[in-house]
Amino acid sequence: MPLKKTASPGKEPTTTFAFTPVKSSQSKIMVQNPVTPANSKGHVRALSLVSNASVTDTPVSNPHAKAEQQLVSALQQLQAIYNDACKTRTQTITIKKSTFEVIATAFNEAYEYIKQPCPVNTKPTGPSNTEICILDSLAEIRSTVVNLDAKYTNLEAKVNNTPKTYADLVKLSSVKESKIEQQIQRRKWREEVRQERQKYGVTLSLKDIDKPEKILSMPAKSIAERCQQAINRLFVNTSETPRVIGISKLAKSIRLQFETEDEATTVRKLDQTKKDVWDTAFEGLKLHIPMHGIVVHGIPIANLPLTMMDSPKLIQQLESENHMETDTIVKISPLRRRMKNRNSETVQLHHSIIVYMNDKHFANKCISNGFYVDYLHYAAEKFVPQYQLMQCFNCCDYGHRATSCKRQSRCGKCGEKHNTRECQSTTVQCFQCKGSHEAWHPKCPVRIAEKDRLEELMGNTSCLFN
Ligand SMILES: [Zn+2]
Ligand SMILES: [Zn+2]
Ligand SMILES: [Zn+2]
Repeated sequence: MPLKKTASPGKEPTTTFAFTPVKSSQSKIMVQNPVTPANSKGHVRALSLVSNASVTDTPVSNPHAKAEQQLVSALQQLQAIYNDACKTRTQTITIKKSTFEVIATAFNEAYEYIKQPCPVNTKPTGPSNTEICILDSLAEIRSTVVNLDAKYTNLEAKVNNTPKTYADLVKLSSVKESKIEQQIQRRKWREEVRQERQKYGVTLSLKDIDKPEKILSMPAKSIAERCQQAINRLFVNTSETPRVIGISKLAKSIRLQFETEDEATTVRKLDQTKKDVWDTAFEGLKLHIPMHGIVVHGIPIANLPLTMMDSPKLIQQLESENHMETDTIVKISPLRRRMKNRNSETVQLHHSIIVYMNDKHFANKCISNGFYVDYLHYAAEKFVPQYQLMQCFNCCDYGHRATSCKRQSRCGKCGEKHNTRECQSTTVQCFQCKGSHEAWHPKCPVRIAEKDRLEELMGNTSCLFN
């Protein structure tokens, strides 16, 4: 400890320092043998050895209690300095010279007091019980400070080593852990990019178009040009005309991409000015109205089997049961499609369904009041597809469906590069974590990490549509 070196007992302080003694109950120091008043003879002898002015000048009846006070005072000041350093997360602790002197003097005085024999202790040589006790306390204080320092350094290291880039990730000691971290991080980035891209895009639906595949097979440039012409018709001042920079071909829609968020917002509102704005590009082309889905758990399969989900009669019945306007429910689908190769022996009696509505107010009403099937109440929650655990049937990775998967097939059983259905292997290995289980095993660490990530995302969003 540097303090011990600097505050050598022989050195005379140039200033007098004041400190406020604290009650011993606040400190860790326990004086087991209460010291009884003065054995003045011993005192005089002891005091002659003391060089520190403030200690020699005022002979005390209880030197060990004084030492305790000094140690507590020094420790509290060290703690205060340490706490300040923690707040600013600095690695180097800077102490004002005057503060350092106060602490050093406190240690110095404590040292001097401890050297004085305890009045109850008749033996002039060797440390008394009280002295041992105080010395133990001092050792304890020292180790506490050292411990705090180690903890702080450790914490600092953790803060600095939080994985941020691939390079950082690779450094993680456990390869397995780092691989899972990488996958989670990549999904996080994909999700961020997706959300960002959506702000600059306008989705147009091909659902009401006679032969949507005919449009989708056209060159992207031609589609973009025709949409641009449709937009141009509504703008007199060409400098303000939003410009289509490119398109994306989706399954049943096309997405126009713009340079700015403002342009996309303007284009999204064009059909309010001119209802058939998109018909001039392709007849039947419409602005895609996002659906609002709610998840309803625990519906008896017998009441709402998969085969009945797209029955208009059932949809009508549900709309009336739930006091909705007609055509509010767009579609109903099961929350989870079953993995074809999963051999499950348990017979499922209930399932979770997603009810898609074109009106967010009705969706919100269901979330707050519940959803009724055959007059039985069920709790409903907001369906956010990107927050649902989704595993691809083709590549067994998370975050997308097989219908949009462009990757090579990955076997969910043996982890090799073939479709799970074609597997002839007798061994089972999860390709994501290398554990001996199938890729969709509930105890797979990758699956658990993905679930945690989604739950965290979910926790940060509102439970209603806004
Ligand atoms: Zn996939
Ligand atoms: Zn296989
Ligand atoms: Zn696994």
